[in-house]
Amino acid sequence: MSKNSLFSGFMKRFSRDIGIDLGTANTLVYVGGRDIVLREPSVIAINKETGEVAAVGEEAKRMLGRTPGHIVASRPLRDGVIADYEQTEEMLKHFIGKVSNKFLLRRSVVVGIPSGVTEVERLAVLQATRKAGATQAFVIEEPMAAAIGAGLPVEEPSGSMIVDIGGGTTEVAVISLGGIVHSRSIRVAGDELDEAIIAYVRRAYNLFIGEKTAEICKISIGSAYPLEQELEILVKGRDLVSGLPRSATITSEEVRTAIQEPLTAIVEAIKLTLEATPPELAADAMDHGIVLAGGGALLRGIDQLISKETMMPVRIADDPLSCVAFGTGRVVEAMHENEVIRKMLERSSRS
Ligand code: ADP
Ligand code: MG
Repeated sequence: MSKNSLFSGFMKRFSRDIGIDLGTANTLVYVGGRDIVLREPSVIAINKETGEVAAVGEEAKRMLGRTPGHIVASRPLRDGVIADYEQTEEMLKHFIGKVSNKFLLRRSVVVGIPSGVTEVERLAVLQATRKAGATQAFVIEEPMAAAIGAGLPVEEPSGSMIVDIGGGTTEVAVISLGGIVHSRSIRVAGDELDEAIIAYVRRAYNLFIGEKTAEICKISIGSAYPLEQELEILVKGRDLVSGLPRSATITSEEVRTAIQEPLTAIVEAIKLTLEATPPELAADAMDHGIVLAGGGALLRGIDQLISKETMMPVRIADDPLSCVAFGTGRVVEAMHENEVIRKMLERSSRS
């Protein structure tokens, strides 16, 4: 074995670079050379009296809508923008701390951020990552990370189209030669589907259901395209007239009608991106098909709907909820050897 490969083997073994998918709904952490080691909701609970962090992640999500007055649980990235810098920083610090140990040789951290963030927000993430203990902090645009994680040939001179439907935002991007050629980010994604279900149940049944119930309803019977066998679910909420707890049975047809508007907005964003894509790249994307990532890709029939509306082949990535995290992971593993990746990171991480 050459001295060089001995050295790189050693570095691989002991360096623990980290890739983070800082999502509006979920944060995932990939530790270089290993795998995804953390997967938690992007939620933080703060004690307003002491200013201390009461809980982060799964524990904090359980508190959403259930906290006593002095504890406030919130999603600091809810709409795909950083609504609260301090809380985002605390959350990052907590998650990085959870996967770190003090025997690290060096620790570069690559964070995937929504492509729609402002310059100020981008710098805030870089700063928060350094404050959280990173020796070197980099950001990567989420659609790029998602495309890498989904195994698309991003370095080649051929267009790939990725659609990442998350909680707060849907990101549509065309990628070629290691760069985003064209992208579009809209604040319509999983959360909006939940809200549309809440509004529908309120209107049709005079029943007020919570966000969690709406999400469960979406995941268990939601669909974007007619199902071979339609489904139904019993939802519990509060009667708007009597104010008392009540339940109602709703069908998958009803849910499909309820979420039609936000789904149309997502389809529209994809069409507009295709229209703005140079013809050669659009033709490539036609050959490879549109690839769907993010939790929203798991909605029944979303691939069929998008395919019908765009007349393009559509494929759902393997493990869509993990694409961005795997992508940041590939990047941290390759950044020391791969010039294209290194350059891309440096471009997007200038501060
Ligand atoms: P983000 O990257 O913004 O954190 P994710 O990619 O983690 O978002 O996706 C979270 C969204 O995906 C949530 O709105 C969640 O309700 C939705 N989701 C998760 N699983 C499913 C499913 N099986 N069907 C439909 N939506 C789903
Ligand atoms: Mg995401």
